[in-house]
Amino acid sequence: MTAHTEPDLAGRAHTTRVVVIGGGIAGLTAAWECARIGMPVTLVEARGRIGGDIETAELDGIRIDLAAEAFSVSARPLGALIDELGLHDAVEPAADGSIAVAVPASSTSAAGGPLRLVTLPANRSGIPANTWATPVRQLVGTAGVWRAYLDRLRPPLTIGRERRLGALVRTRMGPRVRDRLVAPITVGTYGVDPDDIDVDLAVPGLSAALTRVGSLAGAVAQLLPEPSEAASARARRAMLRGGLSRLVEALAERLLVLDADIRVDARATGFSPTGDGWLVTLAGEGEEADADAGAEPLVADIVVLATDAATTAHLLAPHGVQLDTPSTCVRDVVTLVMDATPTASPARAATVYPVPGTMAAASVIDATAAWASVATAAGAGRRVLRVTLDLTDQATDPVETAASEVQRMWPELGAVRAAAHRRVILSPPASMVGHAERIAAARARISAVPGIVAVGEWLAGGGVAGVVSDAVNELERVRHDVLWGRS
Ligand SMILES: Cc1cc2nc3c(=O)[nH]c(=O)nc-3n(C[C@H](O)[C@H](O)[C@H](O)COP(=O)(O)OP(=O)(O)OC[C@H]3O[C@@H](n4cnc5c(N)ncnc54)[C@H](O)[C@@H]3O)c2cc1C
Repeated sequence: MTAHTEPDLAGRAHTTRVVVIGGGIAGLTAAWECARIGMPVTLVEARGRIGGDIETAELDGIRIDLAAEAFSVSARPLGALIDELGLHDAVEPAADGSIAVAVPASSTSAAGGPLRLVTLPANRSGIPANTWATPVRQLVGTAGVWRAYLDRLRPPLTIGRERRLGALVRTRMGPRVRDRLVAPITVGTYGVDPDDIDVDLAVPGLSAALTRVGSLAGAVAQLLPEPSEAASARARRAMLRGGLSRLVEALAERLLVLDADIRVDARATGFSPTGDGWLVTLAGEGEEADADAGAEPLVADIVVLATDAATTAHLLAPHGVQLDTPSTCVRDVVTLVMDATPTASPARAATVYPVPGTMAAASVIDATAAWASVATAAGAGRRVLRVTLDLTDQATDPVETAASEVQRMWPELGAVRAAAHRRVILSPPASMVGHAERIAAARARISAVPGIVAVGEWLAGGGVAGVVSDAVNELERVRHDVLWGRS
């Protein structure tokens, strides 16, 4: 090819205007992937701040994440982004990755009474590698242990016949293992019953291991890291010292250096075709704004929808795209800084999931147990806890409810010194049965509209690493189409 016929790639990039709707990590990543090759980018965010579910605040003088916090350092696109943004030195491995299940302290305990925490033994998605381990007996009782042991004596079952995690565990190990070890994790993390989780996606390799070994516990044991590797496996779980918002801030800084336009308090209300592109309409600035008072519409060659599923479906409906959006779970998330009497009790679990129905909380994260830097900032007399409340319990005051729930587990906790409350929407995980098929169908419908691309948690499945990875992949495809023509 001669110089004369070479495509003007830089020219194509510079003349491709991109509007990104939604300033969470998906939208910011998408904006970055476009701006870095010279595309003019405008990002609009409905709220008064960017970051979406990533938010760090100072409570009682401690910087702490209010929602998303932990990630896996081995997740490559996210790890590469952190390195590229110069945040590598802020990555802090988890001090403790243990998980405990909360159960009533005794069989005669009244509702709302004290709780006992049982730290899970080595497991995969709650399925124990050793059904005789003491914590398993504490959770399912002697009869439950004998029922779980029967798994060893049953004929091998290929997981291909049982795709659902809950049904598989119930069939092999009995209902008590399913309800008291597996359900606390899936319900606590995603608000999803184990019967709605796909075994192969939740625990890759379990299917083949079960066929090989012939028992579920034996299969799990095969998937566990060697004891010598366990510490490094745990260390792969990490946080950003100073909060995950540093990632958001660093991305925004880079975008501004590249002349991207970032607008907060700017809600996109729709987009209409112009013939060769799109006109994105915005509601006016501020919470009370309406569409009539809106800012100038934005001209775009590419519109990136980086919003939640319902908003994306609403924005696409006028263009003939009907989306089968997944059902979501709404929860109250309360972050607490509490007084705590130092105790001589053994190390605490970093994450606690109750047996469903035991508490108003779906999960409790003890950030002072999980992260050394938070423990140092808090000192001996304070604890930092994040409590996710199940809305079905209709908490009247989420902060009061959260505080009394954690006091049921840890009597050494005293007064609340500071608190933050957020209401959040949880998207189903990528491991949900049928997720991949639903997303493939949604993406096929969206891609029929030229110049429109959708990213975000509802497509990628919950989790910052997955959202970043999905946005990078989607925008790579878009960039390719812009620079080289649609394939
Ligand atoms: C309590 C909680 C804890 C979590 N913990 C973890 C964790 O420890 N580790 C982890 O990896 N993940 C965690 N997650 C999941 C993770 O936070 C999300 O997967 C991720 O942040 C989602 O990013 P997103 O950009 O897709 O969506 P969001 O962060 O929801 O961003 C979407 C943005 O779009 C904006 N928007 C919506 N409509 C419009 C419109 N019309 N115009 C303009 N803007 C609009 C919204 O205001 C929002 O800011 C957690 C989530 C929650 C709720």
